[in-house]
Amino acid sequence: MEVFGGMFVIVLLCVLGLAVYFLPSFIAWNKRNSGAIIALNILLGWTFIAWVVALVWSLTADQPTVVLMQPPPQQMLPSAPMLCSVCGQYSPAASRFCQSCGRSIA
Ligand SMILES: [Zn+2]
Repeated sequence: MEVFGGMFVIVLLCVLGLAVYFLPSFIAWNKRNSGAIIALNILLGWTFIAWVVALVWSLTADQPTVVLMQPPPQQMLPSAPMLCSVCGQYSPAASRFCQSCGRSIA
């Protein structure tokens, strides 16, 4: 019984250690950089610094899926509504400022 208890503690510690070791991978699972984070976690996670880097990286927020790069004005369709990259609202075509937040669109 005493031996079994010791084994149980050892197995429990191993499972806990693996869970902590792969914590960055679990956190980053659904993120855009999940492949890079998981690779860093698995390959260099045993170096404590890389593990911390992977953890911090996994906790950083994904870039919002807002299209920041806008086509030049001459390629813009005149009838297309203007999408504000600040508030995400559409403004009428050829408007230079956002109707919702007043920021410059062009
Ligand atoms: Zn706006």
